[in-house]
Amino acid sequence: MMRRGRDLDAKKRMLDRWRRQDEAARLRDRMPEVDSLTIALEEHEADDEPPVSHVRLVPVESAPALFEIPCTDKDCSGGVYDITQEVMSALQHHRKRFEGTQQCTGTSHDQPCARKLRYVGVARYRDKVEAQAMPRAAENASR
Ligand SMILES: [Zn+2]
Repeated sequence: MMRRGRDLDAKKRMLDRWRRQDEAARLRDRMPEVDSLTIALEEHEADDEPPVSHVRLVPVESAPALFEIPCTDKDCSGGVYDITQEVMSALQHHRKRFEGTQQCTGTSHDQPCARKLRYVGVARYRDKVEAQAMPRAAENASR
């Protein structure tokens, strides 16, 4: 039961941080051709260990174009997994599915934190971005 409570806390912290990244450029502005994006995150304590946390991020219209996920290890100091470049690059190349692993950048007990974040992104793209170039036409069409 305790463990479940901690997992939920960690998840809430991740989501809070995700929402706080309001000041970042919007994904929709940077990548108008992205129709939808889902990123599943799994945090691992070591390579062969089962994941210690799962989070699924589903950015919608207002998602920031910034993908920094904090390490949830309470002993870890300053730990962040920054997958912004990987995600933005995959989106630029219109990858429908992309995945990778990012090492935590923090320190735990004076050692580099051993945790890793595994991510799997699934994205859908619009066929054309013409709607963006003709906002009035798109607006009328949706009425
Ligand atoms: Zn860490």
